[in-house]
Amino acid sequence: MFRFYNSLSRRVEEFVPKKKIIGIYSCGPTVYHFVHIGNMRSFLLSDVLRRSLMYGGYSVKQVMNITDVGHLVSDADEGDDKMEKAVRREGKTAWDIAAFYTDAFLADCKRLRLLPPTKMPRATDHIKEQIALVVALEKGGHVYRIKDGMYFDTATFPGYGKLSGQKLEDKQGGKRIGIAGKRNASDFALWKFSQGAKREMEWESPWGVGFPGWHIECSAMSRKYLGQPFDIHTGGIDHLPVHHENEIAQSEAAYGVPLTRFWMHGEFLVLGDGEKISKSKDNFLTLQTLIDRGYDPLAFRLFCFSAHYRTPLTFSWQAMDAAQNALNNLRQTVRAWEKPRGGVEDFEKRFLAALENDLDMPKAVAVMWEMVKADVSTAAKAASLLRFDTILGLDFKKYVAKPAKAEKPSAAAAKLLTQRLKARADKDWKESDRLRDELQKLGWGVLDGKDGGMTLVKSQQ
Ligand code: AMP
Ligand code: ZN
Repeated sequence: MFRFYNSLSRRVEEFVPKKKIIGIYSCGPTVYHFVHIGNMRSFLLSDVLRRSLMYGGYSVKQVMNITDVGHLVSDADEGDDKMEKAVRREGKTAWDIAAFYTDAFLADCKRLRLLPPTKMPRATDHIKEQIALVVALEKGGHVYRIKDGMYFDTATFPGYGKLSGQKLEDKQGGKRIGIAGKRNASDFALWKFSQGAKREMEWESPWGVGFPGWHIECSAMSRKYLGQPFDIHTGGIDHLPVHHENEIAQSEAAYGVPLTRFWMHGEFLVLGDGEKISKSKDNFLTLQTLIDRGYDPLAFRLFCFSAHYRTPLTFSWQAMDAAQNALNNLRQTVRAWEKPRGGVEDFEKRFLAALENDLDMPKAVAVMWEMVKADVSTAAKAASLLRFDTILGLDFKKYVAKPAKAEKPSAAAAKLLTQRLKARADKDWKESDRLRDELQKLGWGVLDGKDGGMTLVKSQQ
């Protein structure tokens, strides 16, 4: 029995599926820029959730949207549309920008071994559905018109604020109203008018030419592909107070039934001192940044498992080194194992129990390590490890019972190794990192031992 923390009830609840196929909706990226590793941590939560449910024997349908229009730089419906901003930055069409960054995102998902969602609808392909939802809201008396667009009147939805635990009055308190004509500070745009501005992405609507507000796409597309209510909605914690609160308001006000039964939110990946990774700052780390520095994207995957998804996780290069070394060690170890046969039942039970306990990945990984070190047949361990890997996604199939071909490092690699030993003895970490990158380019990974020694391992290409 799975138990998940439901952000709506603010407690851990038993997850009892209502239908045969479990419906999950995950808020996807806004494709105006590369996704950063913080974003990837959020998407990894949906991946682990989905894999765990499948491991538990369920069928899952996962829908993840691609926001290719309508997401303004500010949550308060002000400022530029992120896509139009990218148009000015890059001098390409909005459609080209969306296509380029969608592809880049999909490539990153693949490198991190995220299972492709069952469906990835684009906001721009669902304008009709979004308009239909606004029409339904209008019929229910939830919409008003101002110069700038059509707005949702949050005072007409008594449940407004239930997800974040804020009352409407609290949300108003001290918050400026922002756009002229808005009735309540928490009201938000359902449809924005182009207002004569030159826009590449705009559509006809019953209210005038314009484009959808950001929140409406998730309400419209989740209903279309999963029905309402569906089982689980996931997203990053920053989306809880505005985006998800607004999704609830739209979907429930229009149709009178809950949007979803469970809300699951992933905490942030932060830099030291709690600094946010941001697309607009120079701390913009992508999966490609990690690869360029010689890390395997799967080391980042393993690193993310070191914290529970409801705990902020601090990124550091030292932590990445530790994850990369752990991964290299595991790969080396399992190469020497016998071919998979049978399994180690008690470890498998404990592994599943960790997943069932609100996706406790640090615990699941600890169980895996315990098993790897346990004094039982390596064939049984191999079989269990491959089963664990359906969740871990660390691609162990490539390594289990596949001894590395003995290969002597070239003279160049041996020389770099000697230099790196010296750099580390001198505590020159920058030089040590540079030399590790050099070795990586020659096809050699480095395992750092506790005693300051190091071993070269042929990288799997
Ligand atoms: P966006 O493209 O900005 O809508 O973000 C995509 C997803 O990444 C959302 O679910 C965000 O909540 C999430 N997210 C943004 N920054 C971080 C971060 N530093 N750590 C974890 N998740 C994040
Ligand atoms: Zn959403």
